[in-house]
Amino acid sequence: MADLQRLAIASHQINREKVFLTVEQDHYLRRVLRLEVGEKFIVMDGEGKWWLAKLTLDISGKTGLTAVLEQEILIQNELPIKVILICALPKGNNFDEVVRQSTELGVTQILPVISSRTLLQPSPQKLKRWHKIATEAAEQSERQVVPKIRETVEYSVALSLFENENLSTNYHKYICVARNSYPLLLESLLDNSKLESIVIATGPEGGWTDGEIEAAIATGFQVVSLGKRILRAVTAPIVALSLVAAILERSRGVGE
Ligand code: SAH
Repeated sequence: MADLQRLAIASHQINREKVFLTVEQDHYLRRVLRLEVGEKFIVMDGEGKWWLAKLTLDISGKTGLTAVLEQEILIQNELPIKVILICALPKGNNFDEVVRQSTELGVTQILPVISSRTLLQPSPQKLKRWHKIATEAAEQSERQVVPKIRETVEYSVALSLFENENLSTNYHKYICVARNSYPLLLESLLDNSKLESIVIATGPEGGWTDGEIEAAIATGFQVVSLGKRILRAVTAPIVALSLVAAILERSRGVGE
């Protein structure tokens, strides 16, 4: 299986055992991957399922390429709980890399935010671009789920979206803050063996304002450190997610 190419599709493209491919997917399979009719590949619906599929030509000839789902493949490569990243948009195109690498590390959902020191207002096309990056990274890293990238919101809105999640004591919300000696994220994760969901917030190049940190605390976030060094805005989410993935897979046993 490992040598088969993977293609993420939207679940509405499936009708019974048939998948209707888009023009872009057709191009990707035939021109980029050089797959021929009759060859096998893996179809992922981005929501948890994988199938072994065979490339076929639609007999009507109207819709171009289709694929036939031959057999469901049972895998479990996802982290055991939901991990949500709230990330203040960094400069330029740097968020592309955050999306790609967070996807590789197993993030479930990414919420880009505009904070007081964010320098960028994203254009509306960005969301589409980030979704594409997440899809490709999910294919490449053998994820079952393509992380959801939400619409960019103001920081205060992001906090309010997770305000009611405090109801469960196993729902942990962390805000990463550089400098000062806050408790380490690693230690907090190790102290909580029954995590159900994790939300992690990382700031922009200029950091969070004191008011933003206080607002997060007021809605149930714990302030944590990622170590003594100051990480770049694009490095911090990757370090935080690496720690989360390592702890989650360690405590429940890899591959269980
Ligand atoms: N300019 C700020 C640092 C911003 S770093 C300063 O000089 O203080 C960008 C973001 O990465 C921060 O808002 C924080 O969320 C995260 N970050 C960077 N280094 C960190 C560390 N050592 N611990 C926790 N978070 C960190």
